[in-house]
Amino acid sequence: MSVGHGVTTDSLAGLIHQQSGVLVQRCYQCGKCSAGCPAGHEMDPAPSVLLHLLQYQHPESDKKVLSSYSIWLCLTCHTCISRCPMEVDLPKVMDVLRAESLHRALVHPRAKDIVAFHKSFIDTIRNFGRLWEIGLIADYKLRTRHFLQDVVLAPVMFHKGKLSLLPHFQSRFVNRIFSGLQKREEQES
Ligand code: SF4
Ligand code: SF4
Repeated sequence: MSVGHGVTTDSLAGLIHQQSGVLVQRCYQCGKCSAGCPAGHEMDPAPSVLLHLLQYQHPESDKKVLSSYSIWLCLTCHTCISRCPMEVDLPKVMDVLRAESLHRALVHPRAKDIVAFHKSFIDTIRNFGRLWEIGLIADYKLRTRHFLQDVVLAPVMFHKGKLSLLPHFQSRFVNRIFSGLQKREEQES
C-alpha cells in the first residue's frame, strides 16, 4: 500500500512517514543539508545521501542506512531543516532511524558508546524525572567500562557546581510519559 509520493507502507520510508510524518520522497537532493551539517565531515553517508538511499525503498539500501554510523552522529541541531527548501525534517528522520536500528539490532559497532550514553541518559530521566549528572556518568561508565576517561574533569565540574551529589525529586509527570510510551509500544507490537 502507498502513503503518497510512491512511498510504500512496508518500506523504511513508510515507517518514517508513519512515525514522524516526514515524506523522504520530498527531498530533491540539493545537498544543502549535508553542506551545512556540523557533523557532515564525519558522516558517511552524508545526510542527503541517507535520504537518497531511503528513497530507493529497497531492503538492501534500508539496511545500509540502519547500520550506518552517520545516524548516531546527528546532533539534532536542526541546521539542516532550517536550510532545506523542502522542509524535510531530518532530525525527526534520524530519531526514527536510531530507534529502528536498535530494534533490528543493526547498530554500527563504532556507535556502541553513543548508544550506551543514550541509554544512560534515558534511564536517568526515567528514574529521577530530570537529568542527574553523577548518576548518568556512573551508569555510562558501568556500561562502557571507561572508568578513567575524563576523570580529571570531575573535581573541576564539582567545584563549579555543575555536579549535584543527590538526584532531584522524581517527577510523576515524567513517569506518566514513560508509562504511556511503554503502553503504546506494547499495543503496537
Ligand atoms: S536540503 Fe532538503 S531537499 Fe536538499 S538534500 Fe537536504 S533534505 Fe533534500
Ligand atoms: S540535525 Fe543532524 S543531520 Fe541535521 S544538520 Fe544537525 S547534525 Fe546534521
